Parts: sequence; structure tokens; C-alpha cells
Amino acid sequence: MHTVNLAGTEKPYRVGKIVCLGRNYGEHIRELGNEVPEQPILFLKPATSLVEDGGTVVIPSYSGDCHHEVELAVLIGNGGRDIAETDAMAHVAGYGVAIDMTLRDVQAEQKSKGLPWEIAKAFDTSCPLSGFVPAAAVADPHALRLTLAVNGEPRQDGTTAAMMRRIPQIIAEVSAIFTLEEGDVLLTGTPAGVGRVVAGDVMTAEIEQVGHLEVAVR
Ligand code: MG
Repeated sequence: MHTVNLAGTEKPYRVGKIVCLGRNYGEHIRELGNEVPEQPILFLKPATSLVEDGGTVVIPSYSGDCHHEVELAVLIGNGGRDIAETDAMAHVAGYGVAIDMTLRDVQAEQKSKGLPWEIAKAFDTSCPLSGFVPAAAVADPHALRLTLAVNGEPRQDGTTAAMMRRIPQIIAEVSAIFTLEEGDVLLTGTPAGVGRVVAGDVMTAEIEQVGHLEVAVR
């Protein structure tokens, strides 16, 4: 899957890059013992990391600690570079539900050595992603409950109101570094409650007004 659908339109969006924001919720920063970043912590996932609703995450053999991170996904409609915060929301086509699958043990080792995170964050199947609803269908993207359960057991339950960087700021900061194109996707960070999944688990993620995502783990 390299395309995503936007409800109410016929046109599939071809996903280019997926730009992810780390440490955007205070409670999650505290649970991992990290520091609040002054500059945004950004990393990329390739389109080959995508898994659609009903699909399967395959944990790489080099990890023994694969974590779920439910996140609000933002689909870029009109691209641009150096987008001003005041214009940013006009570049948003829609919202979706994503899970930023993270190999926590591998990430910790990479961090300790000062090495890049991609092998922990951007592997095949590391980005389950729902379809998108149009931006106009979401009253306020900064007031949405987001939850994730594993085998029906609640793990994450947060609100996008707790995001430290809000969507206009994220778009402004990201587009000052990477030209944004139609079909690019932004992941906006995860609330507290991240945890391990193992083969045989089923993850269910939900964001009110936005959608629902169910993914198996192998
Ligand atoms: Mg994340």
C-alpha cells in the first residue's frame, strides 16, 4: 500500500514521505525519562513502512521490544515550502489514525551510540495507517481523544489537546526543512501509555471523529 484514501473523494493520494514528530506529549516524555525538546525531533518513515487497516505488523527479528504509539496523522493536500503558521491549516487535506511502531530496545541502543533511529522506526510495516477524513469534517484537531488497546485491553488514552507543538507549528517547522508535497503524511507524536506488543496480539487504535484502525502483530 502506497496510497491512502480521503473519504468523499475519488482520488487516491500517493504517499511520498512520512514525517514523524517525537516527544510531543509531556506525559510520554516523562514515561520514557526524556527531556522536553526545544527544537522539533523529526524522523522519516518511507512509504514501504505502511500497513493498511486489517493488515499485519511484522516485528523484525533483531528486536525483542516492539512498542505501539498511537498518533494523529495529517495528510498534506497542497504542498509547499516555508509555510507560515497562519497559512498552515490550508495545506491539510485530512486526518487519519496512525501507529508509530517503534523497536524500543533498538532505538535505545542507537540513541546511546548517537546513531540514527531508522532501523528502529522505519522498517517494513512500522506505520499502520487508516484512511483519512476530510479536514473540514473535524471540528478541532486539537481536541480529539485518541486511544489504543491491545487484545481489547486499554493501553493509551490521551487527547490531542496535550500536544505541545500544534499542527500549524509542526507544518511550519517541517516545511522549513523538507518541501511538503501532496500525499505526504505527518505523524504528530504519541500520548503516554506506550508499551510492548508480541506476535499474536491485535492492536485497535481509535481517534474520535477521525477513524479506527485494527492491526495484527506477527
Ligand atoms: Mg511516535
